[in-house]
Amino acid sequence: MDLPRKPAEELNKFRHAQYFKRIIQIMPSQMASYDSNRMMFGFFAISGLDLLNCLDILKEEERLGAVEWIYRLQVKGAGAMSGFQASTMLPDQTPDYLCGHLSMTYTALATLLALGDDLSRVDKKSIVEGMRSCQNPDGCFIAMITGSESDMRFLYCACCICAILDDWSGLDKDRAIDYIVKSISYDGAMGQGPGLESHGGSTFCAVASLLLMNELHGALSLEQLERLRRWCLMRQSDGFQGRPGKPTDTCYSFWIGATLQMLDVQQFSDAEKNREFVLSTQDTRIGGFAKYYDTRADPLHTYLGLSGLSLLGEPGLQPLNAALNISSRAYAHLKELHKKWNQ
Ligand SMILES: [Zn+2]
Repeated sequence: MDLPRKPAEELNKFRHAQYFKRIIQIMPSQMASYDSNRMMFGFFAISGLDLLNCLDILKEEERLGAVEWIYRLQVKGAGAMSGFQASTMLPDQTPDYLCGHLSMTYTALATLLALGDDLSRVDKKSIVEGMRSCQNPDGCFIAMITGSESDMRFLYCACCICAILDDWSGLDKDRAIDYIVKSISYDGAMGQGPGLESHGGSTFCAVASLLLMNELHGALSLEQLERLRRWCLMRQSDGFQGRPGKPTDTCYSFWIGATLQMLDVQQFSDAEKNREFVLSTQDTRIGGFAKYYDTRADPLHTYLGLSGLSLLGEPGLQPLNAALNISSRAYAHLKELHKKWNQ
């Protein structure tokens, strides 16, 4: 049943910037259990401020402090265990706990880019080494060598890391592409792995990975691309749902919206309905976006809600690089760094 929804208000940039600032300064107590994802929350908040064009709401020492905090979480020269870890709060910092995690490495690098850092203190060689040891024989990746699930999310993070470091030597592309193609379900979209149900999040990860590898049109046939486009377009009612029969959810305005853009068919979706849905989930009193209009705002839906609006060209927001999920300013900064590294 469709519940009555409050009318959408205009984007309240100021409140959302305040919301992100609070996340950076203190972890709200209801989020304490997410400490193991702290790097990711830092990414949502800092890249979110970047999308809002509001990074200057942080004092310079806060921005520099964030850069230092991220570098403190880098595990270098540790072979297969190299990379960035989630938080400084992990038990005791004994060597067993010092282990890079692909999602944290990707979000650490993306956050450093948003902060304008030149990545000169990133130990690229050991990151590539750590990443390489996380690829399975089937082409997919685990998140960390000490053990985790293996699915499309971590394959995507690995592709982002390679694209940011401009070094693909730690990833076997043929095997990764094989895994993605085998993950295409009977309905034309991708699951987390072969034989699994299609899902908006894994479809984004699969398509973005192919695009970052510059293999989107090489790996998929015209027919496969058409079925994929159709599946994504069919996910819209007002906003987007992640799977058939599920309610619309703010984050899919990014996951599906970004996929539509990468597949060059964003123009066939209803931008105005999508925008109104996303705006109906913002909390204009304390800031942030929620999954649905009647639930509590959280950092993930706030960041992805803004990313979804940015894809629609919302005034006052920076454009987005859809595949890496960073602002186009951060992406331009990255391209400058690549030029410098290749001189
Ligand atoms: Zn969601």
